[in-house]
Amino acid sequence: MSENTKNVKSTIPTNSENSNTTTNATGNNFIHNFIDEDIKNGVYDADKIMTRFPPEPNGYLHIGHAKAISINFTTAEKYGGRCNLRFDDTNPVKEDVEYVDSIMEDVRWLGYDWAGLYYGSDYFDQMYDCAVKLIEKGVAFVDDLSADEIRELRGTLTTPGSESPYRNRTISENLELFEAMKSGAFKDGEKVLRAKIDMSSPNINMRDPVIYRISHNTHHNTGDKWCVYPMYDFAHPIEDAIEGITHSLCTMEFEDHRPLYNWVLESLNWPHAPRQIEFARLGLTNTVMSKRYLKALVDEETVDGWDDPRMPTISGLRRRGYTPEAIRDFCDRIGVAKANSTVDVGLLEHCVREDLKAKVYSKNVIFDPIKVIITNYPEDKMEEMEMENSRDNPDWGNRLVPFSRELYVDGSDFMEEPIKKYFRLFPGNEVRFKGAYFITCNEVIKNEDGSIKELHCTYDPATRSGSGFEGRKVKGTIHWVDAKTAVAITVRELGYLMIDDEENPGMYKINEDSMETKTCYAEPSILESTAGDRYQFFRHGFYVADSKLYRKEAPVFNSIVGMKSSFKI
Ligand code: ATP
Ligand code: MG
Repeated sequence: MSENTKNVKSTIPTNSENSNTTTNATGNNFIHNFIDEDIKNGVYDADKIMTRFPPEPNGYLHIGHAKAISINFTTAEKYGGRCNLRFDDTNPVKEDVEYVDSIMEDVRWLGYDWAGLYYGSDYFDQMYDCAVKLIEKGVAFVDDLSADEIRELRGTLTTPGSESPYRNRTISENLELFEAMKSGAFKDGEKVLRAKIDMSSPNINMRDPVIYRISHNTHHNTGDKWCVYPMYDFAHPIEDAIEGITHSLCTMEFEDHRPLYNWVLESLNWPHAPRQIEFARLGLTNTVMSKRYLKALVDEETVDGWDDPRMPTISGLRRRGYTPEAIRDFCDRIGVAKANSTVDVGLLEHCVREDLKAKVYSKNVIFDPIKVIITNYPEDKMEEMEMENSRDNPDWGNRLVPFSRELYVDGSDFMEEPIKKYFRLFPGNEVRFKGAYFITCNEVIKNEDGSIKELHCTYDPATRSGSGFEGRKVKGTIHWVDAKTAVAITVRELGYLMIDDEENPGMYKINEDSMETKTCYAEPSILESTAGDRYQFFRHGFYVADSKLYRKEAPVFNSIVGMKSSFKI
Protein backbone atom coordinates (compact mmCIF):
# COMPACT_ATOMS: atom_id res chain seq x y z
CA MET A 1 0.00 0.00 0.00
CA SER A 2 1.49 3.35 -0.98
CA GLU A 3 1.76 6.26 1.39
CA ASN A 4 -1.09 7.86 -0.50
CA THR A 5 -3.45 4.97 0.06
CA LYS A 6 -2.82 5.22 3.74
CA ASN A 7 -3.74 8.86 3.61
CA VAL A 8 -6.97 8.05 1.88
CA LYS A 9 -8.02 5.38 4.33
CA SER A 10 -6.89 7.26 7.38
CA THR A 11 -9.06 9.67 9.24
CA ILE A 12 -9.39 13.33 8.46
CA PRO A 13 -10.60 16.06 10.77
CA THR A 14 -14.16 17.28 10.39
CA ASN A 15 -14.80 20.99 10.31
CA SER A 16 -15.47 22.51 13.67
CA GLU A 17 -19.06 23.04 14.68
CA ASN A 18 -19.86 26.71 15.06
CA SER A 19 -23.29 28.16 14.62
CA ASN A 20 -23.66 31.76 13.62
CA THR A 21 -26.37 33.82 12.09
CA THR A 22 -26.17 34.54 8.42
CA THR A 23 -28.19 36.33 5.84
CA ASN A 24 -29.06 34.99 2.43
CA ALA A 25 -26.43 35.01 -0.28
CA THR A 26 -28.74 36.92 -2.56
CA GLY A 27 -30.25 39.14 0.09
CA ASN A 28 -28.20 41.82 1.75
CA ASN A 29 -25.17 40.43 3.54
CA PHE A 30 -21.98 41.85 5.04
CA ILE A 31 -20.20 41.72 1.67
CA HIS A 32 -22.93 43.81 0.10
CA ASN A 33 -22.76 46.20 3.04
CA PHE A 34 -19.03 46.72 2.36
CA ILE A 35 -19.72 47.28 -1.31
CA ASP A 36 -22.53 49.75 -0.55
CA GLU A 37 -20.14 51.60 1.72
CA ASP A 38 -17.48 51.72 -1.01
CA ILE A 39 -19.98 53.03 -3.52
CA LYS A 40 -21.20 55.64 -1.06
CA ASN A 41 -17.65 56.76 -0.37
CA GLY A 42 -16.94 57.03 -4.07
CA VAL A 43 -14.22 54.34 -3.99
CA TYR A 44 -15.84 52.47 -6.88
CA ASP A 45 -18.56 53.45 -9.33
CA ALA A 46 -21.89 51.83 -8.63
CA ASP A 47 -22.14 50.55 -12.19
CA LYS A 48 -18.63 49.07 -12.34
CA ILE A 49 -18.74 46.46 -9.60
CA MET A 50 -16.69 43.49 -10.66
CA THR A 51 -15.97 40.13 -9.05
CA ARG A 52 -14.30 36.93 -10.21
CA PHE A 53 -14.27 33.25 -9.44
CA PRO A 54 -10.61 32.18 -9.48
CA PRO A 55 -10.21 28.39 -9.26
CA GLU A 56 -6.85 26.74 -9.51
CA PRO A 57 -7.21 24.11 -12.27
CA ASN A 58 -5.74 21.33 -10.13
CA GLY A 59 -8.91 19.32 -9.55
CA TYR A 60 -12.66 19.28 -10.13
CA LEU A 61 -14.96 21.79 -8.47
CA HIS A 62 -16.86 20.72 -5.37
CA ILE A 63 -19.90 21.93 -3.48
CA GLY A 64 -17.69 24.35 -1.50
CA HIS A 65 -16.71 26.01 -4.76
CA ALA A 66 -20.41 26.28 -5.60
CA LYS A 67 -20.74 28.57 -2.59
CA ALA A 68 -17.86 30.77 -3.81
CA ILE A 69 -19.28 30.75 -7.35
CA SER A 70 -22.72 31.69 -6.11
CA ILE A 71 -21.38 34.55 -3.95
CA ASN A 72 -19.27 36.00 -6.73
CA PHE A 73 -21.87 35.75 -9.48
CA THR A 74 -24.88 36.81 -7.42
CA THR A 75 -22.98 39.78 -6.00
CA ALA A 76 -22.02 41.00 -9.47
CA GLU A 77 -25.58 40.43 -10.64
CA LYS A 78 -27.04 42.36 -7.74
CA TYR A 79 -25.04 45.46 -8.69
CA GLY A 80 -25.55 45.04 -12.43
CA GLY A 81 -21.83 44.31 -12.55
CA ARG A 82 -19.70 41.57 -14.08
CA CYS A 83 -18.08 38.40 -12.84
CA ASN A 84 -15.08 36.79 -14.54
CA LEU A 85 -13.99 33.20 -14.53
CA ARG A 86 -10.24 33.19 -14.07
CA PHE A 87 -8.01 30.18 -13.88
CA ASP A 88 -5.45 30.77 -11.23
CA ASP A 89 -2.84 28.74 -13.02
CA THR A 90 0.45 30.08 -11.76
CA ASN A 91 1.76 26.72 -10.56
CA PRO A 92 3.02 24.72 -13.56
CA VAL A 93 3.18 21.38 -11.77
CA LYS A 94 -0.32 20.48 -10.59
CA GLU A 95 -2.45 21.95 -13.33
CA ASP A 96 -4.12 20.27 -16.25
CA VAL A 97 -6.40 21.08 -19.21
CA GLU A 98 -8.78 18.31 -18.10
CA TYR A 99 -9.47 20.40 -15.01
CA VAL A 100 -9.86 23.61 -17.01
CA ASP A 101 -12.52 21.97 -19.19
CA SER A 102 -14.39 20.43 -16.28
CA ILE A 103 -14.45 23.72 -14.38
CA MET A 104 -15.98 25.57 -17.33
CA GLU A 105 -18.57 22.84 -17.78
CA ASP A 106 -19.46 22.87 -14.09
CA VAL A 107 -19.81 26.65 -13.80
CA ARG A 108 -22.03 26.69 -16.88
CA TRP A 109 -24.07 23.78 -15.61
CA LEU A 110 -24.66 25.64 -12.34
CA GLY A 111 -26.24 28.29 -14.52
CA TYR A 112 -23.66 31.07 -14.46
CA ASP A 113 -22.29 32.97 -17.38
CA TRP A 114 -18.94 34.65 -16.94
CA ALA A 115 -18.25 38.09 -18.36
CA GLY A 116 -14.66 37.26 -19.31
CA LEU A 117 -12.63 34.09 -19.30
CA TYR A 118 -9.02 34.60 -18.26
CA TYR A 119 -5.93 32.71 -17.25
CA GLY A 120 -3.60 34.06 -14.59
CA SER A 121 -0.79 32.75 -16.77
CA ASP A 122 -1.82 35.18 -19.53
CA TYR A 123 -0.46 37.93 -17.28
CA PHE A 124 3.00 36.43 -16.70
CA ASP A 125 4.64 39.22 -18.73
CA GLN A 126 2.92 41.91 -16.73
CA MET A 127 3.67 40.13 -13.47
CA TYR A 128 7.31 39.91 -14.39
CA ASP A 129 7.34 43.63 -15.15
CA CYS A 130 5.68 44.31 -11.80
CA ALA A 131 8.40 42.33 -10.04
CA VAL A 132 11.05 44.36 -11.86
CA LYS A 133 9.27 47.54 -10.74
CA LEU A 134 9.45 46.43 -7.12
CA ILE A 135 13.16 45.71 -7.49
CA GLU A 136 13.69 49.15 -9.05
CA LYS A 137 11.81 50.68 -6.18
CA GLY A 138 14.14 48.91 -3.76
CA VAL A 139 11.38 46.78 -2.20
CA ALA A 140 12.28 43.37 -3.67
CA PHE A 141 15.54 41.43 -3.64
CA VAL A 142 16.99 38.19 -4.96
CA ASP A 143 17.78 35.78 -2.16
CA ASP A 144 20.22 32.84 -2.31
CA LEU A 145 18.93 31.18 0.84
CA SER A 146 17.33 27.76 0.47
CA ALA A 147 13.68 27.18 1.32
CA ASP A 148 14.74 25.58 4.61
CA GLU A 149 17.02 28.48 5.53
CA ILE A 150 14.28 30.97 4.73
CA ARG A 151 11.91 29.05 6.98
CA GLU A 152 14.44 28.96 9.81
CA LEU A 153 14.97 32.72 9.68
CA ARG A 154 11.27 33.48 9.42
CA GLY A 155 10.72 33.45 13.20
CA THR A 156 7.54 32.34 14.90
CA LEU A 157 4.27 33.85 16.02
CA THR A 158 6.02 35.05 19.18
CA THR A 159 9.53 35.79 17.94
CA PRO A 160 10.51 38.11 15.09
CA GLY A 161 12.33 36.79 12.04
CA SER A 162 15.85 37.69 10.96
CA GLU A 163 16.87 39.43 7.78
CA SER A 164 18.51 37.47 5.01
CA PRO A 165 22.21 38.25 4.47
CA TYR A 166 21.29 38.94 0.82
CA ARG A 167 18.68 41.53 1.69
CA ASN A 168 20.86 44.51 0.98
CA ARG A 169 21.98 43.69 -2.53
CA THR A 170 22.04 46.72 -4.79
CA ILE A 171 19.16 47.39 -7.12
CA SER A 172 21.30 46.75 -10.18
CA GLU A 173 22.60 43.46 -8.79
CA ASN A 174 19.02 42.40 -8.06
CA LEU A 175 17.90 43.36 -11.56
CA GLU A 176 20.72 41.39 -13.08
CA LEU A 177 20.10 38.32 -10.95
CA PHE A 178 16.34 38.37 -11.53
CA GLU A 179 16.97 38.57 -15.26
CA ALA A 180 19.37 35.63 -14.95
CA MET A 181 16.72 33.68 -13.02
CA LYS A 182 14.31 34.28 -15.87
CA SER A 183 16.79 33.25 -18.54
CA GLY A 184 17.39 29.90 -16.90
CA ALA A 185 20.83 30.47 -15.37
CA PHE A 186 19.85 28.75 -12.10
CA LYS A 187 18.33 25.50 -10.97
CA ASP A 188 15.03 25.17 -9.11
CA GLY A 189 15.35 26.54 -5.60
CA GLU A 190 18.76 28.15 -6.14
CA LYS A 191 17.38 31.65 -5.95
CA VAL A 192 14.08 33.35 -5.18
CA LEU A 193 12.77 36.87 -5.39
CA ARG A 194 11.47 38.20 -2.08
CA ALA A 195 9.53 41.31 -1.17
CA LYS A 196 11.43 43.51 1.25
CA ILE A 197 8.83 44.33 3.88
CA ASP A 198 9.39 43.73 7.59
CA MET A 199 11.02 40.70 9.22
CA SER A 200 9.61 41.68 12.59
CA SER A 201 6.02 42.14 11.46
CA PRO A 202 3.58 40.34 13.75
CA ASN A 203 2.02 39.00 10.52
CA ILE A 204 4.35 36.28 9.26
CA ASN A 205 3.07 36.76 5.70
CA MET A 206 4.73 40.19 5.75
CA ARG A 207 8.18 38.86 6.69
CA ASP A 208 9.86 39.28 3.31
CA PRO A 209 7.60 36.79 1.52
CA VAL A 210 8.88 34.97 -1.55
CA ILE A 211 7.17 36.43 -4.62
CA TYR A 212 8.92 34.60 -7.49
CA ARG A 213 10.53 31.20 -7.66
CA ILE A 214 12.35 29.11 -10.24
CA SER A 215 10.56 26.04 -11.61
CA HIS A 216 11.83 24.30 -14.74
CA ASN A 217 8.52 22.74 -15.64
CA THR A 218 6.27 22.89 -18.67
CA HIS A 219 3.17 24.97 -18.01
CA HIS A 220 -0.16 23.82 -19.47
CA ASN A 221 -0.76 27.25 -21.02
CA THR A 222 2.64 28.90 -21.55
CA GLY A 223 4.66 25.76 -22.28
CA ASP A 224 8.39 26.28 -21.69
CA LYS A 225 8.37 30.04 -22.09
CA TRP A 226 8.96 30.61 -18.39
CA CYS A 227 11.11 29.04 -15.75
CA VAL A 228 10.24 31.62 -13.10
CA TYR A 229 6.72 31.68 -11.69
CA PRO A 230 5.00 34.20 -9.40
CA MET A 231 3.79 33.06 -5.97
CA TYR A 232 0.06 33.15 -5.30
CA ASP A 233 0.16 36.14 -2.94
CA PHE A 234 1.97 38.23 -5.52
CA ALA A 235 0.06 37.00 -8.56
CA HIS A 236 -3.45 37.20 -7.20
CA PRO A 237 -3.72 40.94 -6.47
CA ILE A 238 -2.14 41.70 -9.85
CA GLU A 239 -4.56 39.42 -11.67
CA ASP A 240 -7.48 41.09 -9.89
CA ALA A 241 -6.16 44.56 -10.60
CA ILE A 242 -5.47 43.92 -14.30
CA GLU A 243 -9.06 42.78 -14.80
CA GLY A 244 -10.50 45.74 -12.94
CA ILE A 245 -11.98 43.60 -10.19
CA THR A 246 -13.43 45.88 -7.53
CA HIS A 247 -14.13 43.30 -4.85
CA SER A 248 -11.97 40.24 -4.50
CA LEU A 249 -14.10 37.79 -2.54
CA CYS A 250 -12.27 34.87 -1.00
CA THR A 251 -12.34 32.51 1.94
CA MET A 252 -11.22 33.28 5.48
CA GLU A 253 -7.82 31.62 5.26
CA PHE A 254 -6.74 34.59 3.15
CA GLU A 255 -7.57 37.14 5.83
CA ASP A 256 -3.98 37.17 7.10
CA HIS A 257 -2.80 37.60 3.52
CA ARG A 258 -4.82 40.75 2.97
CA PRO A 259 -2.04 43.09 4.21
CA LEU A 260 0.28 41.52 1.63
CA TYR A 261 -2.42 41.78 -1.07
CA ASN A 262 -2.71 45.48 -0.30
CA TRP A 263 1.07 45.95 -0.02
CA VAL A 264 1.63 44.55 -3.52
CA LEU A 265 -0.88 46.91 -5.11
CA GLU A 266 0.21 49.93 -3.07
CA SER A 267 3.87 49.29 -3.87
CA LEU A 268 2.94 49.21 -7.54
CA ASN A 269 0.90 52.42 -7.16
CA TRP A 270 -2.05 50.67 -8.71
CA PRO A 271 -4.98 53.05 -9.22
CA HIS A 272 -8.45 51.77 -8.19
CA ALA A 273 -6.98 48.78 -6.41
CA PRO A 274 -9.47 46.03 -5.60
CA ARG A 275 -10.68 45.38 -2.08
CA GLN A 276 -10.36 41.87 -0.66
CA ILE A 277 -13.27 40.64 1.47
CA GLU A 278 -13.23 37.23 3.15
CA PHE A 279 -16.13 34.89 3.93
CA ALA A 280 -16.36 31.49 5.64
CA ARG A 281 -15.59 28.29 3.78
CA LEU A 282 -18.45 25.88 3.47
CA GLY A 283 -18.11 22.72 5.52
CA LEU A 284 -20.70 19.94 5.21
CA THR A 285 -21.33 17.01 7.51
CA ASN A 286 -20.34 13.61 6.10
CA THR A 287 -18.29 15.38 3.47
CA VAL A 288 -14.63 16.05 2.84
CA MET A 289 -13.91 18.70 0.25
CA SER A 290 -10.20 19.21 -0.07
CA LYS A 291 -9.21 18.71 -3.70
CA ARG A 292 -6.06 16.93 -2.61
CA TYR A 293 -8.10 14.38 -0.69
CA LEU A 294 -10.67 13.96 -3.46
CA LYS A 295 -7.87 13.46 -5.98
CA ALA A 296 -6.42 10.73 -3.79
CA LEU A 297 -9.82 8.97 -3.73
CA VAL A 298 -9.83 9.07 -7.52
CA ASP A 299 -6.19 8.05 -7.98
CA GLU A 300 -6.52 5.14 -5.56
CA GLU A 301 -9.77 4.07 -7.27
CA THR A 302 -11.73 4.19 -4.04
CA VAL A 303 -14.36 5.88 -6.20
CA ASP A 304 -15.20 5.63 -9.88
CA GLY A 305 -13.64 8.92 -10.99
CA TRP A 306 -14.19 12.57 -10.08
CA ASP A 307 -17.83 12.21 -11.14
CA ASP A 308 -18.61 9.19 -8.98
CA PRO A 309 -22.16 9.95 -7.78
CA ARG A 310 -21.00 9.74 -4.15
CA MET A 311 -18.41 12.48 -4.63
CA PRO A 312 -19.11 16.04 -3.39
CA THR A 313 -17.80 17.36 -6.71
CA ILE A 314 -20.18 19.29 -8.96
CA SER A 315 -19.77 16.57 -11.58
CA GLY A 316 -20.49 13.90 -8.95
CA LEU A 317 -23.60 15.72 -7.76
CA ARG A 318 -24.71 16.12 -11.38
CA ARG A 319 -24.31 12.40 -12.01
CA ARG A 320 -26.10 11.77 -8.73
CA GLY A 321 -29.10 13.56 -10.21
CA TYR A 322 -28.86 16.80 -8.23
CA THR A 323 -30.12 19.83 -10.13
CA PRO A 324 -28.35 23.17 -10.53
CA GLU A 325 -31.46 24.87 -9.15
CA ALA A 326 -31.26 22.81 -5.96
CA ILE A 327 -27.58 23.61 -5.49
CA ARG A 328 -28.17 27.31 -6.07
CA ASP A 329 -31.08 27.26 -3.63
CA PHE A 330 -28.79 25.58 -1.09
CA CYS A 331 -26.09 28.23 -1.57
CA ASP A 332 -28.70 30.91 -1.07
CA ARG A 333 -30.05 29.34 2.11
CA ILE A 334 -26.67 28.84 3.78
CA GLY A 335 -25.96 32.51 3.30
CA VAL A 336 -22.71 34.36 3.83
CA ALA A 337 -20.92 34.85 7.11
CA LYS A 338 -17.42 35.24 8.47
CA ALA A 339 -17.51 32.53 11.12
CA ASN A 340 -16.74 29.05 9.84
CA SER A 341 -19.56 26.61 10.28
CA THR A 342 -20.48 23.12 9.26
CA VAL A 343 -23.79 22.79 7.48
CA ASP A 344 -25.89 19.64 7.84
CA VAL A 345 -25.78 17.79 4.51
CA GLY A 346 -29.50 17.17 5.17
CA LEU A 347 -30.13 20.78 4.12
CA LEU A 348 -28.61 20.12 0.70
CA GLU A 349 -30.72 16.97 0.38
CA HIS A 350 -33.81 18.92 1.41
CA CYS A 351 -33.18 21.43 -1.37
CA VAL A 352 -32.81 18.61 -3.89
CA ARG A 353 -36.01 16.89 -2.77
CA GLU A 354 -38.00 20.13 -2.87
CA ASP A 355 -36.77 20.89 -6.37
CA LEU A 356 -37.33 17.39 -7.77
CA LYS A 357 -40.83 16.98 -6.34
CA ALA A 358 -42.14 19.49 -8.79
CA LYS A 359 -40.09 18.29 -11.74
CA VAL A 360 -40.09 14.54 -12.20
CA TYR A 361 -42.44 11.80 -13.31
CA SER A 362 -43.45 8.99 -11.05
CA LYS A 363 -42.72 5.33 -11.87
CA ASN A 364 -43.68 2.10 -10.14
CA VAL A 365 -40.59 0.18 -9.14
CA ILE A 366 -40.56 -2.85 -6.87
CA PHE A 367 -37.75 -3.44 -4.39
CA ASP A 368 -37.09 -6.86 -2.80
CA PRO A 369 -39.90 -8.30 -4.96
CA ILE A 370 -42.50 -10.82 -3.83
CA LYS A 371 -44.61 -12.46 -6.52
CA VAL A 372 -48.39 -12.16 -6.25
CA ILE A 373 -50.75 -14.45 -8.17
CA ILE A 374 -54.31 -13.20 -8.49
CA THR A 375 -55.94 -16.62 -8.60
CA ASN A 376 -59.35 -15.40 -9.79
CA TYR A 377 -57.97 -13.19 -12.56
CA PRO A 378 -58.12 -14.70 -16.08
CA GLU A 379 -54.79 -16.14 -17.24
CA ASP A 380 -54.68 -14.49 -20.64
CA LYS A 381 -56.12 -11.12 -19.66
CA MET A 382 -54.10 -7.91 -19.56
CA GLU A 383 -55.52 -4.50 -18.61
CA GLU A 384 -53.97 -1.06 -18.87
CA MET A 385 -54.42 0.92 -15.69
CA GLU A 386 -54.29 4.70 -15.62
CA MET A 387 -51.80 6.12 -13.17
CA GLU A 388 -50.98 9.76 -12.52
CA ASN A 389 -47.61 10.92 -13.81
CA SER A 390 -46.99 13.17 -10.85
CA ARG A 391 -48.87 13.64 -7.66
CA ASP A 392 -47.46 17.18 -7.38
CA ASN A 393 -48.49 18.10 -10.92
CA PRO A 394 -52.05 16.87 -11.59
CA ASP A 395 -52.04 18.56 -15.00
CA TRP A 396 -49.28 16.23 -16.19
CA GLY A 397 -51.94 13.62 -16.90
CA ASN A 398 -51.81 9.87 -16.66
CA ARG A 399 -49.84 6.99 -18.11
CA LEU A 400 -51.02 3.44 -18.80
CA VAL A 401 -49.53 0.66 -16.73
CA PRO A 402 -50.15 -3.01 -17.58
CA PHE A 403 -51.90 -5.21 -15.02
CA SER A 404 -52.42 -8.98 -15.22
CA ARG A 405 -52.65 -12.13 -13.17
CA GLU A 406 -49.05 -12.18 -11.95
CA LEU A 407 -47.57 -9.15 -10.28
CA TYR A 408 -44.75 -8.10 -8.01
CA VAL A 409 -45.06 -6.14 -4.79
CA ASP A 410 -42.40 -4.72 -2.46
CA GLY A 411 -40.99 -7.12 0.10
CA SER A 412 -41.71 -4.51 2.75
CA ASP A 413 -45.42 -4.45 1.80
CA PHE A 414 -46.03 -7.97 3.10
CA MET A 415 -45.80 -9.41 6.61
CA GLU A 416 -46.74 -12.99 7.30
CA GLU A 417 -47.33 -12.08 10.92
CA PRO A 418 -48.26 -8.41 10.91
CA ILE A 419 -47.12 -6.12 13.67
CA LYS A 420 -49.66 -3.79 15.26
CA LYS A 421 -51.04 -1.09 12.93
CA TYR A 422 -49.69 -2.84 9.83
CA PHE A 423 -52.28 -2.22 7.14
CA ARG A 424 -50.51 -3.61 4.10
CA LEU A 425 -50.59 -7.19 2.82
CA PHE A 426 -50.84 -10.09 5.25
CA PRO A 427 -52.86 -13.30 5.13
CA GLY A 428 -56.56 -12.50 5.33
CA ASN A 429 -56.15 -8.75 4.73
CA GLU A 430 -57.51 -6.69 1.87
CA VAL A 431 -55.57 -3.71 0.47
CA ARG A 432 -55.83 -1.35 -2.46
CA PHE A 433 -53.40 -1.96 -5.33
CA LYS A 434 -52.94 1.65 -6.35
CA GLY A 435 -54.68 2.45 -9.62
CA ALA A 436 -56.07 -1.12 -9.92
CA TYR A 437 -58.27 -3.22 -7.60
CA PHE A 438 -58.81 -4.23 -4.00
CA ILE A 439 -56.78 -7.39 -3.44
CA THR A 440 -57.06 -9.90 -0.61
CA CYS A 441 -54.14 -12.08 0.43
CA ASN A 442 -55.31 -15.65 0.97
CA GLU A 443 -52.30 -17.90 1.09
CA VAL A 444 -48.53 -17.79 1.40
CA ILE A 445 -46.74 -20.37 -0.77
CA LYS A 446 -43.25 -21.25 0.44
CA ASN A 447 -40.13 -22.71 -1.14
CA GLU A 448 -38.56 -25.81 0.32
CA ASP A 449 -36.13 -23.69 2.32
CA GLY A 450 -39.05 -21.89 3.96
CA SER A 451 -38.64 -18.65 2.01
CA ILE A 452 -41.68 -17.09 0.37
CA LYS A 453 -42.32 -18.30 -3.19
CA GLU A 454 -45.47 -16.34 -3.93
CA LEU A 455 -48.67 -14.99 -2.46
CA HIS A 456 -51.99 -16.27 -3.67
CA CYS A 457 -54.53 -13.48 -3.67
CA THR A 458 -57.93 -12.67 -5.13
CA TYR A 459 -59.23 -9.42 -6.56
CA ASP A 460 -62.69 -7.89 -6.45
CA PRO A 461 -63.64 -6.80 -10.01
CA ALA A 462 -66.15 -4.30 -8.60
CA THR A 463 -63.40 -2.23 -7.02
CA ARG A 464 -61.60 -1.17 -10.19
CA SER A 465 -59.94 2.18 -9.76
CA GLY A 466 -61.94 4.99 -11.36
CA SER A 467 -65.19 3.01 -11.29
CA GLY A 468 -66.54 5.05 -8.39
CA PHE A 469 -66.75 2.01 -6.10
CA GLU A 470 -67.75 3.03 -2.60
CA GLY A 471 -68.78 -0.30 -1.09
CA ARG A 472 -66.10 -0.50 1.58
CA LYS A 473 -62.85 1.11 2.57
CA VAL A 474 -59.41 -0.41 3.06
CA LYS A 475 -56.63 1.11 5.08
CA GLY A 476 -53.57 0.12 3.07
CA THR A 477 -52.60 1.18 -0.44
CA ILE A 478 -49.56 -0.37 -2.08
CA HIS A 479 -47.99 -0.23 -5.52
CA TRP A 480 -47.16 -3.10 -7.83
CA VAL A 481 -45.79 -3.98 -11.25
CA ASP A 482 -47.01 -6.53 -13.73
CA ALA A 483 -44.66 -9.53 -13.70
CA LYS A 484 -44.80 -10.42 -17.39
CA THR A 485 -43.87 -6.94 -18.63
CA ALA A 486 -41.67 -5.91 -15.71
CA VAL A 487 -38.20 -4.63 -16.56
CA ALA A 488 -35.33 -5.73 -14.32
CA ILE A 489 -33.22 -2.70 -13.48
CA THR A 490 -30.10 -2.25 -11.39
CA VAL A 491 -30.57 0.27 -8.61
CA ARG A 492 -27.55 1.66 -6.78
CA GLU A 493 -28.54 2.88 -3.34
CA LEU A 494 -25.94 5.48 -2.44
CA GLY A 495 -25.01 6.41 1.09
CA TYR A 496 -22.46 8.84 2.46
CA LEU A 497 -18.90 8.29 1.34
CA MET A 498 -17.64 9.60 4.68
CA ILE A 499 -19.00 8.55 8.05
CA ASP A 500 -18.06 9.29 11.65
CA ASP A 501 -15.11 7.31 12.88
CA GLU A 502 -16.14 6.12 16.33
CA GLU A 503 -12.56 5.28 17.22
CA ASN A 504 -11.46 8.84 16.49
CA PRO A 505 -14.10 11.29 17.68
CA GLY A 506 -14.41 14.30 15.43
CA MET A 507 -12.93 12.41 12.46
CA TYR A 508 -14.41 10.82 9.38
CA LYS A 509 -13.55 7.53 7.77
CA ILE A 510 -14.49 5.99 4.44
CA ASN A 511 -17.86 4.25 4.51
CA GLU A 512 -17.21 0.82 3.04
CA ASP A 513 -20.96 0.36 2.46
CA SER A 514 -21.65 3.56 0.58
CA MET A 515 -23.05 1.76 -2.47
CA GLU A 516 -25.56 -1.07 -2.31
CA THR A 517 -26.59 -2.58 -5.63
CA LYS A 518 -30.03 -4.17 -6.01
CA THR A 519 -32.06 -5.66 -8.82
CA CYS A 520 -35.56 -4.20 -8.87
CA TYR A 521 -38.58 -4.54 -11.15
CA ALA A 522 -39.90 -1.50 -12.94
CA GLU A 523 -43.00 -0.85 -15.02
CA PRO A 524 -42.15 -1.15 -18.75
CA SER A 525 -42.33 2.60 -19.46
CA ILE A 526 -39.02 2.92 -17.61
CA LEU A 527 -37.39 1.97 -20.91
CA GLU A 528 -38.44 5.30 -22.38
CA SER A 529 -35.65 6.81 -20.26
CA THR A 530 -32.45 8.25 -21.52
CA ALA A 531 -29.32 8.62 -19.43
CA GLY A 532 -29.69 11.44 -16.92
CA ASP A 533 -33.50 11.19 -16.62
CA ARG A 534 -34.80 11.56 -13.10
CA TYR A 535 -37.88 9.98 -11.55
CA GLN A 536 -39.72 9.52 -8.36
CA PHE A 537 -39.87 5.77 -7.76
CA PHE A 538 -43.26 5.77 -6.13
CA ARG A 539 -43.01 5.52 -2.33
CA HIS A 540 -39.22 4.96 -2.50
CA GLY A 541 -37.50 8.18 -3.41
CA PHE A 542 -35.84 9.96 -6.29
CA TYR A 543 -33.64 8.14 -8.79
CA VAL A 544 -31.64 9.02 -11.87
CA ALA A 545 -30.66 6.96 -14.91
CA ASP A 546 -26.88 6.87 -14.55
CA SER A 547 -25.31 9.12 -17.15
CA LYS A 548 -22.45 6.70 -17.82
CA LEU A 549 -23.87 3.24 -17.18
CA TYR A 550 -27.50 3.43 -18.31
CA ARG A 551 -28.28 1.22 -21.31
CA LYS A 552 -31.72 0.13 -22.51
CA GLU A 553 -30.54 -3.50 -22.36
CA ALA A 554 -29.24 -3.06 -18.81
CA PRO A 555 -30.69 0.01 -17.12
CA VAL A 556 -28.76 1.38 -14.11
CA PHE A 557 -30.24 3.95 -11.75
CA ASN A 558 -28.69 5.84 -8.83
CA SER A 559 -30.57 6.95 -5.76
CA ILE A 560 -30.67 10.76 -5.62
CA VAL A 561 -32.40 11.32 -2.32
CA GLY A 562 -35.08 9.59 -0.26
CA MET A 563 -38.71 10.72 0.01
CA LYS A 564 -38.50 12.14 3.48
CA SER A 565 -35.86 13.09 5.94
CA SER A 566 -35.71 13.81 9.60
CA PHE A 567 -33.83 17.01 8.82
CA LYS A 568 -35.56 20.03 10.35
CA ILE A 569 -35.43 23.31 8.49
P1 ATP B 1 -9.48 23.00 -1.80
O1 ATP B 1 -8.89 23.48 -0.52
O2 ATP B 1 -10.78 22.29 -1.66
O3 ATP B 1 -8.53 22.23 -2.61
P2 ATP B 1 -9.00 25.55 -2.92
O4 ATP B 1 -9.38 26.64 -2.02
O5 ATP B 1 -7.57 25.23 -3.05
O6 ATP B 1 -9.88 24.28 -2.59
P3 ATP B 1 -9.35 26.96 -5.35
O7 ATP B 1 -9.42 26.40 -6.71
O8 ATP B 1 -8.15 27.74 -4.99
O9 ATP B 1 -9.56 25.76 -4.34
O10 ATP B 1 -10.67 27.74 -5.01
C1 ATP B 1 -11.30 28.69 -5.84
C2 ATP B 1 -12.18 29.53 -4.95
O11 ATP B 1 -13.14 28.72 -4.29
C3 ATP B 1 -11.36 30.23 -3.89
O12 ATP B 1 -11.77 31.57 -3.84
C4 ATP B 1 -11.71 29.49 -2.63
O13 ATP B 1 -11.63 30.34 -1.54
C5 ATP B 1 -13.13 29.00 -2.92
N1 ATP B 1 -13.43 27.81 -2.12
C6 ATP B 1 -12.75 26.64 -2.10
N2 ATP B 1 -13.28 25.80 -1.20
C7 ATP B 1 -14.35 26.43 -0.65
C8 ATP B 1 -15.33 26.08 0.34
N3 ATP B 1 -15.31 24.91 0.96
N4 ATP B 1 -16.27 27.00 0.65
C9 ATP B 1 -16.31 28.18 0.03
N5 ATP B 1 -15.43 28.57 -0.90
C10 ATP B 1 -14.45 27.72 -1.24
MG1 MG C 1 -6.21 26.83 -3.70
